Amino acid sequence: IDFLERTPKAELHAHLNGSIPLPLLQELAAEHLSAPGAQEDPAIRAALEALRAGPALAEIHDFFHLFPAIYALTSTPRALARAADAVLAAFLGGARPQCAYLELRTTPRATPAMDRAAYLATVLSALERYAPAQAGLIVSLDRRMGAEALEECVALACALRAQGRRVVGVDLCGDPLAGDMALLGPYLARVQAAGLGVTLHIAETTENTPEETLQLLSYGPQRLGHATFLDAEAIALVLEKKMCIEICLSSNILCKTVSSLESHHISQYLTCDHPVSICTDDILPFRTSLIGEYALLLAAKPLGLGLSEAQVARIAAMSMSHRFSQEL
Ligand code: IMP
Repeated sequence: IDFLERTPKAELHAHLNGSIPLPLLQELAAEHLSAPGAQEDPAIRAALEALRAGPALAEIHDFFHLFPAIYALTSTPRALARAADAVLAAFLGGARPQCAYLELRTTPRATPAMDRAAYLATVLSALERYAPAQAGLIVSLDRRMGAEALEECVALACALRAQGRRVVGVDLCGDPLAGDMALLGPYLARVQAAGLGVTLHIAETTENTPEETLQLLSYGPQRLGHATFLDAEAIALVLEKKMCIEICLSSNILCKTVSSLESHHISQYLTCDHPVSICTDDILPFRTSLIGEYALLLAAKPLGLGLSEAQVARIAAMSMSHRFSQEL
């Protein structure tokens, strides 16, 4: 653990609403359910129960059903700011921080209490207040977004970047089977022209088609989330363009998109020294931590991957060198 804590590393793939510490979520739920005029909400109770019991997902789609209840609890600027503060503290706080640098991602959400601009302003203010030199924000585009929402999110991300705020990139996430990926091209081109990095969740399930994967790769992302089911043509492109793969070991195992650590696609990238970055994805449902994910690299097989300290240090260095913003 000492070695893992001492090794400088970057967390590059953490979703804000999937990374809220459980005690804070429980606190937010208690406040929400006891607010004047609040109605009993069975969906919130069920999600809290599922999160308290720990990860037991039959398949990846079960995972996305948790978010509506979490969203109900982070739908005001005050609750969202508390969530952002707690997530920043979980990664960067305390005497023994999980990482030296964090790129936190979140999907700008319009609620009755805030529009998307206010959502981003709230998260960015928390990030800039808490860790001015150690964190950047990635604006997530949800796969279900239509042209209007994409336009608004991309315009906000580019404008904030132009104002010198700590927006470092744009992500594509959400239900892996939703949406029309042909829509994205012009928006991602604008993002890149504004100097922002691009990372895309890609090929997360067997149902993602090779055509969709090639289309997403054609947009020229620097990094890829999961990239679990790439075919030979896609792998050749990823290797050629040196796109860094954001690897989320526990997430993949618990969502059952990968059956064992031994068969995880990280091994094929390590064999050819292709850049990877070890990440947590969503520490709330997966009950993990960045140090825990790195511990899986070091642990002997079959519990872990049985890598040496030198190999793990090299992987950690890769994460640092694939930050979207090196100067932060
Ligand atoms: P948020 O963007 O801060 O609201 O974080 C939660 C959101 O991240 C979810 O609603 C999903 O859209 C997205 N997300 C979290 N984990 C994954 C994943 O493994 N694959 C795709 N999308 C994800």
